[in-house]
Amino acid sequence: MADVIRFDNFNVQYASVKEEIDAAVRRVLESGWFILGKEVEAFEREFAHYIGCRYCVGVASGTDAIALSLMALDIGSGDEVITTDMTAFPTIAGIMQAGALPGVVDISPDDGLIDPDRIEAKITKHTKAIVPVHLYGQSCDMDPICEIARKHHLKIVEDCAQSVGATYKERKTGGIGDVNAFSFYPTKNLGAYGDAGAVTTNDEATYNKLLQLRNYGQRTRYYHDTFGINSRLDEMQAAVLRVKLKYLEQWTLQRRQHAAYYQEHLNSVTCLKENSYGVPVYHLFVIKTSRRDRMLEYLKSNGIQCLIHYPVPIHRQKAFPTHNDQDHNVYPNTERFADEIFSIPIYPELTGEQQERIVEAINRMS
Ligand SMILES: *Cc1c(COP(=O)(O)O)cnc(C)c1O
Repeated sequence: MADVIRFDNFNVQYASVKEEIDAAVRRVLESGWFILGKEVEAFEREFAHYIGCRYCVGVASGTDAIALSLMALDIGSGDEVITTDMTAFPTIAGIMQAGALPGVVDISPDDGLIDPDRIEAKITKHTKAIVPVHLYGQSCDMDPICEIARKHHLKIVEDCAQSVGATYKERKTGGIGDVNAFSFYPTKNLGAYGDAGAVTTNDEATYNKLLQLRNYGQRTRYYHDTFGINSRLDEMQAAVLRVKLKYLEQWTLQRRQHAAYYQEHLNSVTCLKENSYGVPVYHLFVIKTSRRDRMLEYLKSNGIQCLIHYPVPIHRQKAFPTHNDQDHNVYPNTERFADEIFSIPIYPELTGEQQERIVEAINRMS
């Protein structure tokens, strides 16, 4: 049988930038400085510039980035935060880590993103923020979401874990909301070699608060003015991310080319809609079919690894705090979506030959 096509393949990417990565890691080892030093400062500057916003604060993970964003906005215990019913659970974990209560909204079935028209019905007098998730690498429709936030005096924390580099009307995601969260988990489009994340903002006071929040409330060494946690991006990961950031646009272009190939050649499954208001970065390539489970079996037996993002809507997760109170019928779109979707490999280094094999297998099965 032909080689297995893995869903992700970190080895080929490492091989392509090995010399630069090895040199960056050696530079940190030989510097003898590992926490909050030159590499983190340089990465924060370079990443803020890339996103097109004024400030960036490196943190330990994407989940922490969401929690710290809310904490910086003084959102926590007793407050409610609205997000989408179709996301990676860490979106919810981050909201709960800040002490707030998450509420979820149904999606638009065509693109899998939060349906802005359903947000207002979820707002209560305790609601303080909306966390739009730019799922699969495509921006949410931000104008109506920002309009609702303005009208109800809510903050916006963009979850950009899957959307680094994606745009909404010429602006990059992560530069639109009040405080915004990124993940550099290894599978993400900009992946570290371990856990890592970042928060972006244009507000100087929020930026200064974040610097303390991620470093046990420390203003200068041994002087603690406020509560804070330990959630720092380390020098080694920052050095790795600085190398990879230089290649991100090129890797994104390859992902977009793979997506265009799939959209052109897949003929019996539904590809998610690409909205004309922005340019997505295809963190994942998600397709829908009513025969999902049979198709997954077939692809697996043909050596093609696929995954489901995500098989269980948030409101059905046992850890979702209000799940017992929810009427399942209020999320008809996520219910159906979760039963029909699966993701096929789309990492930048995927070859034309591999893509052909994937498309042929899917079309043959249909
Ligand atoms: C990966 C991810 C996160 C969390 O990131 P970690 O770095 O793993 O904590 C949050 N939200 C979404 C949508 C994600 O995909």
